[in-house]
Order: sequence, then structure tokens, then C-alpha cells
Amino acid sequence: MALAHNLGFPRIGGDRELKKAVEAYWKGDISEDCLRQVGRELRAQHWQLQKEAGLDLVPVGDFAWYDQVLTHSLTFGVVPERFAKAGEKPTLETLFAMARGVVESSCCGGAHAQEMTKWFDTNYHYLVPELTADLEFSLSWEQLFEEVDEALALGHKVKPVVIGPLTWLWLGKVKGEEFDKLDLLERLLPVYGQIFQRLAAQGVEWVQIDEPILGLDLPQDWKNAFERAYNLLQREPLKKLVATYFSGLEDNLGLAAGLPVDGLHLDLVRAPEQYPTILDRLPAYKILSLGVVNGRNVWRCDLEKVLATLQHAQERLGDRLWVAPSCSLLHSPVDLEREDQLDEELKSWLAFAVQKTEEVAILAQALNNPDSAKVQAALEQSRQVQESRANSPRIHKPEVQARLAAVTPKDSQRTSPFAERIKLQRERLDLPLFPTTTIGSFPQTQAIRAARLAFRQGKLNEAEYKHAMQTEIQHAVRVQEALDLDVLVHGEAERNDMVEYFAEQLDGYLFTRFGWVQSYGSRCVKPAVIYGDISRPQAMTVEWIAYAQQQTGKIMKGMLTGPVTMLMWSFPREDLSRKQQAQQLALAIRDEVVDLETAGIKIIQIDEAAFREGLPLRRADWQVYLDWATEAFRLTASGVQDATQIHTHMCYSEFNDVIASIAAMDADVITIETSRSQMELLDAFESFHYPNDIGPGVYDIHSPRVPDSEEMANLLRKAAQRLPVEQLWVNPDCGLKTRGWPETKAALEHMVKAAKQLRKEY
Ligand code: GLN
Ligand code: ZN
Repeated sequence: MALAHNLGFPRIGGDRELKKAVEAYWKGDISEDCLRQVGRELRAQHWQLQKEAGLDLVPVGDFAWYDQVLTHSLTFGVVPERFAKAGEKPTLETLFAMARGVVESSCCGGAHAQEMTKWFDTNYHYLVPELTADLEFSLSWEQLFEEVDEALALGHKVKPVVIGPLTWLWLGKVKGEEFDKLDLLERLLPVYGQIFQRLAAQGVEWVQIDEPILGLDLPQDWKNAFERAYNLLQREPLKKLVATYFSGLEDNLGLAAGLPVDGLHLDLVRAPEQYPTILDRLPAYKILSLGVVNGRNVWRCDLEKVLATLQHAQERLGDRLWVAPSCSLLHSPVDLEREDQLDEELKSWLAFAVQKTEEVAILAQALNNPDSAKVQAALEQSRQVQESRANSPRIHKPEVQARLAAVTPKDSQRTSPFAERIKLQRERLDLPLFPTTTIGSFPQTQAIRAARLAFRQGKLNEAEYKHAMQTEIQHAVRVQEALDLDVLVHGEAERNDMVEYFAEQLDGYLFTRFGWVQSYGSRCVKPAVIYGDISRPQAMTVEWIAYAQQQTGKIMKGMLTGPVTMLMWSFPREDLSRKQQAQQLALAIRDEVVDLETAGIKIIQIDEAAFREGLPLRRADWQVYLDWATEAFRLTASGVQDATQIHTHMCYSEFNDVIASIAAMDADVITIETSRSQMELLDAFESFHYPNDIGPGVYDIHSPRVPDSEEMANLLRKAAQRLPVEQLWVNPDCGLKTRGWPETKAALEHMVKAAKQLRKEY
């Protein structure tokens, strides 16, 4: 019998119940008991859903109050000193303090939160474990065992999920004196031993050990450590399933297949080429779990196609085959049934976590009981979905495809090289040395949000809304003029979000009401979904930007989101390559760039905040990505005259390994986030002899702190030591939408003063 299981279920709840409860608890509106009750109910509900869907084993340990990596840190007793109370075990309060920091008060000192970073190539963020050379581990947190008891009491067959020791260490960051993280492994493993013993005593048979780093380029000592660690863990009770996901095992395939454990899970959605290779490498006693339902996207699975692979595997493996989603469903929205406003056809193409567990179960049933009416009906339905998608005119638009097919290399090439363009631009723009500008957004005040909401709800009519936004634009322009900034922006008051705003105006995108996915802690995002060929029915920003330009004699910069960022922050199609989707987006946004130019806008910024985060997990795949991403940007930017200046913006730091591609994007000006690195991030640009103009951020916009002008001037001096001053612009690190007006004005005033000071010095 093939067994159906799941690697993890979203914890937030179909109505974001967990988010709401956690935030209410933080505010003091509900008690800890009440919060715990919400958690218990959600877990019970999620297990029940998965059981009813037909899964044979349900995951436990996928629930977390904030983040699963943080839960592990607590489990191992890894609580940084600034949060620890001597001799006391950590509490829920400790957990939230580690996640969010503690504000200094009259009684106690403050403590900054643990660092947060992206979980592999997802948009989920985890709290980075802090590793010190003298770290001791001890089992300090009972949550996993309690939840196992809870699930058992409810009559479920459970499979606890833990992050493997190597992956947890890999994700940690060395603090204090430098040392090799791997030195901690020997001390950490006994805690895993204790965990497994406790679980075995509770009656657990299988444990899932997540080791996604097996899909990365691993140094040799880490590979060796895998063998050492699992040889030791082999002695502990429980059957162990090592789970890998997000990329292929490649050179680690032999290592992973040979680990002395009882089963291996592979992500066949991301890395289908691992099958059937794995069959010849897998020892004859091992379970193989095949991840065939995409845990990272929202589309229905092509059951028949997947079933063919599974049937082949079943012939070879018999009962040793398990069926699963590719990865934890943490990265999927919760339940499609809640979508009451999607049209039926679009809805029939989609599957969220609940539907994905049903798909997994039906695939296992199709192996075990192929003739059952339920299986036949599901396969028939899947066939219809695939057919309707393959042929739907809502997806496939000949005009878009024809336009794409007609693109030539010239289309992604400005007319003249930068050296010539910049002369024309300087002449036309007539800016001083160290020109000042901002990244686009100004404070999104309560009034702005209220107006947008009222418009959405129909309480403001179009004319009233337009008037409200124009008033905001006027205000932003007046402020910028008073500050004596050189290149102004309209302030982005009309934008809810830099991707959604454009997605809503493009054809080929759909929006859900409840498609929330956890981003970090209580924060959730609701990505737009690209379902069909992308086109732009009409101009998206021209009216606002042209209005803004009319309000001032200064230069107004147009503001757009680039194709790569649009793609990275949406759920993409699966029936078209990412490259082609980026090209379609590029052509649509290119039209907007040209329209802005026609409307008299002399500078146009195309934000690519997600450019670097699109990098694949494996180095060997980087260049292919960088090539198409760069090409898509150039295609967007190259429809304009030489004298029109194209800016781009990337919040991202760390440009060393991608600097050649950044240069190949050939934006006339790039603004980046550099203030917290003391301009060290410019080293990459310096050693590359980066030729185009660059605006290194001179102050951090993530905090309300207002640095004085001398501090910013010093940063500019550092920049000027690294790059010719003619190339330098002056701007904040990023957009100002999360800040308040008083601090914004004060900081920009200091920034302009610093620029003027520098002009005197050079
Ligand atoms: N133009 C955008 C803004 O200022 C850029 C935001 C971003 O890069 N994250 O808000
Ligand atoms: Zn930014």
C-alpha cells in the first residue's frame, strides 16, 4: 500500500486566526490561556482536515507561535543571554521576546530581537539561531511532545516533524568569537537523541527530519558531518524519514540516499530529474517519499501526469512508496473553498493547502485502489481542468505571444552606450553634483489609507478619491520643493503595494480574498496570481505622474515596479517558464515607460527590489537566471530616447557576486541600500569599475532615528573615496512609506544639507 502523508500544514488558519490571536495577546487584549486555546483549536482543526482528506499520517510540530526555527532554538535551550532568566526555563514570553525584541523600560533593560532572514528561496522568514563557541544544549521546551499527545488523544496517526541538526546549524549565525559551527554538532546530537526517545515513549513510529540543505552546494566537511551525525542518530529509536525540498540533491544524491535512516523524501516538483535516478541509488530497505504536489504554488496538480510517475515507482518499490506534497504546505494559502468571489472557471484551476492534501490522498488511492469510483472521478476532473487551461483564451493570447516572438536583441538595447547617453541627460536635466532624490514613497498616513479603503468600499467616488490623492501629491511636492530636493517623486500615495498596484491593472493576473501565506511571525502576504498571458490594457501611472509634474518646475521622476520583482512576488504560472513570464511583464511595463516619456517625464525609475532574491539555490543555476532577469529589465527600459534617464532601485545589499549582471542591466542610475554597511557595499562597484551613476543610501529608513547631516556627509565622503564624484547621487536607503512625516522631513533636510556640503568640498 502506498502511503499518503504531508510534510507540514499552514499554521495561520483560514481566517488568519493565529495572526489575530497572537497580535491580540501582544496588545494585552487576550490572556495566554486564551491564546493557547486558539492554537489548540487550529491544530485540531488542521489535523482533522488532513485526516478527512485521506492522509495516513499527519504532521505534528509544524505549528509554531512565531516560527519553527525559533521553536527549535528554544527546544535546544539556545536562548541568547539577553533574553534568558538565570535558572529558569524559557516561557512564551521568552519566545516572543526573542522574536520581537524587548523595549527598554524603567525596570529592565531592552534587548534587540534575533535577526530574521529568508527561509531558502521562499518568502517565509525565520529567526536566525545565535551560535556561540561555548553553547551548551539542553532539552528546554515541551511543545513538540505536548502537541504529539494532543494529536494522539484526538485519535490521529502522527508523524512529528523536526528540522535536522545539520540544517538547523547551517541556518545559525556565529556570534562573538569566530569558530566553526560544525564544532557544535557533537554537543547538539544528544538532544536529538533525547527527543527521539521521548517521542518513541509516546508511541510514535516515524519522525520526519527536514534537511533541505542537502539541496545546496555543501562544503565537504558538511557532507562528512551528515554521515557522522546520522550514524550516531541511527542508534536512537524511531523510524526516520529525511526530507529534502526546494532543489535537487544532485551531487548530494548518493550521500542522502546512503544515510542510515529509513526513508528519504524528494521534491519532484522543483527537481523532477531526480527521478528515476534515485531508484538505482536507494538501498532496498528504504521508503521513498515522492513530493509530487507543488507546495509552493496555487495550481491544481495534473493528477494523470503525476500518476504515471508514481505507478512506475510503485512497480519498483511496492509498499516502500509514499506520496506527499513537494514541501511543507506552509507556503500555500489555506483553503480555496473560502474564495467566494472568484469566477468558477478560474477557481477550478486552483488548489490551496486543503485541496493539495486531497490531491496527495487521491494519488495514493489511485495506486492502491485504481478502480474506485472516487479515483476515477478525480482523474476525470483533473483531465478536464488541464484541458480547459491548455486551451482557454483567457490564458493564451495570440497578440501577446506574437509580440514576444517578434522581440529582437535590439529591443533590449538603448540606442547609445551609457557614456553617450549620460552627456545628453546631464545637459537636459541640468543637475548639480551630488543630485538629491528619494526612492519613491512618502509616509503612508492614516488619512491616505482611509481614503484608499473608502474608495474600495465605494464610500468615496472616483472624483473624490482622485481629489484626495492629488491633494497628497501636492503636499509631497510642496514638501520636496521646500526641502530643495533636486529630483522629486509623487509619493506613491495611491499604491497599496508595489506589486499589487500594477498587478491589478494588468490583464493576466487574478486576486484572491483569503489567499494569505505567512511571511514572518504574525505577518502574512497575499500574493497576486499570474494565470494568463500578461498585457497592459491602458496606462497605469501616467495620469498621477503627469499631474505631479504639473505641480512643479523641478524634475518629477516616474515610478514603476520592474518585471523581475513583479514575478518574484506573485504566484507564477506553471505552464510557462519564469523567463517568458518576465518577458511578458517586461513588454507591458515597457509600454508604461514609453507612455511616461511621451507625457514629458524625463526620469523613470523601475524598481527591482526582488532582483537578487530570485537567485537560485544552486550556484550552477545562477547565470541562467541572471541572464534572463537582466534581459527582462533591459527590455522594459530600452524603449526610450537616450536623453530619458532610467533609474532602478534595489534594497538589497551584497552585490559582490552579481555585480556584472547589475552593470549589464545598464540603468543610468541605480540606488541601493548602503547606510548600515558604512558604504562598504560600494566596494563591489569600485572594484568592478561600475560605469553608470549610483545613489548609495545615506540613511537607514528602517528606524525612526534621524542622523545629523555630518553623519550623512561622512558616508558621502566614504562613497567619494570609492567612486568618481560625478557618478554619485544622494538619497535614502529605500522608500519612506513606513515612516512618519516629521522624521522624514528632518532626515531629508539633513540629507540635502549634506549634499550641499559635499558640493563645496568637490
Ligand atoms: N519605490 C518603492 C518605494 O519607495 C521602492 C520600494 C522597495 O524597493 N521595496 O516604496
Ligand atoms: Zn528598497
